[in-house]
Amino acid sequence: MRAVAILASSLLLLATTASVSRGSSTPHWTYDGEDGPQHWAQLDHSFETCELGKQQSPVDLVTHVKADLPSIKFNYGEIPTEVVNNGHTMQVNVPYGYSITIEDHTYQLVQFHFHTPSEYQIEGKSFPLELHLVHKDENGALAVVGVLIQEGGVSPALERIFWDGPADAGKTKRLIDVKTDLESLLPADKTYYRFMGSLTTPPCSEGVNWFEMRNPIEASMAQIEKFRQLFPMNARPIQPLNNRLVVEDIK
Ligand SMILES: [Zn+2]
Repeated sequence: MRAVAILASSLLLLATTASVSRGSSTPHWTYDGEDGPQHWAQLDHSFETCELGKQQSPVDLVTHVKADLPSIKFNYGEIPTEVVNNGHTMQVNVPYGYSITIEDHTYQLVQFHFHTPSEYQIEGKSFPLELHLVHKDENGALAVVGVLIQEGGVSPALERIFWDGPADAGKTKRLIDVKTDLESLLPADKTYYRFMGSLTTPPCSEGVNWFEMRNPIEASMAQIEKFRQLFPMNARPIQPLNNRLVVEDIK
């Protein structure tokens, strides 16, 4: 009986630790099984948009309209590298001062993170990795720049983030003396697909301005495999486009 009591109390302790580390306001969710994407809306009332929303992300990008869209001005630079393993992805927190400007509208870069395989597809084509650069304006509106990543040369920026970032969920690590060059995370040709969508993780909030780069950047197979070791699959399935238009930027 004593052993059972000890076991029970240590299980309770484990459970308490787990819920504290996740934060009491965010219910547990995953990318497969009972807490996977097909069930996100049932996990918590605040997740209902995952099922009821009509402008959900990601989607398969099929061009409806081609247009000469305004250029995105990237006010990027080198940042100190603070990496968070939040249990769903590897995320780099960005200090204030880096932003994008589109037609005089400025959004501050808040963080960037990764998915494998890519969440978005281009005409049915998937990529091994995808980067999401998450920006917010002064009213809280979100603009996400998505960058597809194909297998190729080594990305110096990803090297330290993937190898030196915390392997354990819930941990944050400041990489001493490691600067990340934000520009190196972007393709040379910055034309994009433009459409409205949502967060691709619960609570799946809509009204997100998506700018998906038309051209990928590269990472080596070793880098792709390193990320997959940490997060074997962290991509939400493709969602219905419904009556949205995808505009392709052509210059
Ligand atoms: Zn994302």
